[in-house]
Amino acid sequence: MKITEIRLGMISVPLRVPFKTALRSVSSVEDVVVEIHTDTGAVGYGEAPPTGVITGDTIGGIVGAFKEHIIKTLVGRDVDDHEDNLRALNACIVHNSSPRAAADMALWDLYGQLYNIPVYKLLGGARKQIVTDITISVNDPEQMRRDAIDAVGRGYDCLKIKVGANPSLDVERLVAIRGAVPPEVCVRIDANQGWEPKEAVRILNGMQEKGLDIEFVEQPVKAHDFEGMKYVTERSYVPVLADESVFSAADALRIMQMRAADFVNIKLMKCGGIHNALKIASAAEVYGVECMIGCMLESKLAVNAAVHLACAKKVITKVDLDGPVLCREDHILGGATFEEKLITVSDAPGMGIRGVQEGKITYIDS
Ligand SMILES: [Mg+2]
Repeated sequence: MKITEIRLGMISVPLRVPFKTALRSVSSVEDVVVEIHTDTGAVGYGEAPPTGVITGDTIGGIVGAFKEHIIKTLVGRDVDDHEDNLRALNACIVHNSSPRAAADMALWDLYGQLYNIPVYKLLGGARKQIVTDITISVNDPEQMRRDAIDAVGRGYDCLKIKVGANPSLDVERLVAIRGAVPPEVCVRIDANQGWEPKEAVRILNGMQEKGLDIEFVEQPVKAHDFEGMKYVTERSYVPVLADESVFSAADALRIMQMRAADFVNIKLMKCGGIHNALKIASAAEVYGVECMIGCMLESKLAVNAAVHLACAKKVITKVDLDGPVLCREDHILGGATFEEKLITVSDAPGMGIRGVQEGKITYIDS
């Protein structure tokens, strides 16, 4: 199975409601879709979201990474040379983690199709179903309270609350939500780098003293501030999960060696795909650190690849793959089934994606 052509296109999917964090506000998913074509007719699919504020990836940058580096590197290669292909992909351009992730998932898709096995089984096959949390965007406390009640009504039992935009309001937001949902509902918070270390300790311990029962906090401080994160981890009653601080396996190792965080968040778009995510998962197993798997604002196409990884690996104990349920429409054919919190992986060969609905992809000349 030889790679003959790589095509790029754009998809546009409106969100149910605007997605707001301490870093940004977004109303639709506008992602680059990648198709790796082969001489057997098999196609591998990938997707890259332009998350400039986190990964630095833009639509122009993603398209440029493919046109100037990745296409030249992969076209003509044999899908069966999987390890070599993944190494060549990761060697052909630095940074650009989202375009590398899109190509990586398409290569895994093809490799699974070649051997007629779903990717999650290829990687370990620990389970077929996972349960995701759902994100509640940053808004005024009353709006967030209503959104939390709505989510619980739809069956979610784990809420991820975005905080960090205005520290003085964050406690008020959590009090409003905690008072409105049953006590057994798990509440985790994501500050998206919004706090300074001392401020984070003060806010988090204040929240626990109020009985808000926070499961953990994601990325309380700046991505580069490993010492600051360690400061918070050592002093806060609330466990800490490193997200924006961990792009590579090297970052994850450093965080774990420093004991700067209690948990690590794996996102394919930060680490450049499954090939590198497996290294983070293995390091976490060695250090006895549990992982969460997360996504950017991605359609089902890219999140489906994260589902395969999460279903393969037991070290991934926390799932934050709500991208598809935040979307108003689903234009992707095949892949995992998303029924609110319950995600069931596809047993079709490879990633199980059969493409994008007719008329819902705009191809870019390459
Ligand atoms: Mg996060």
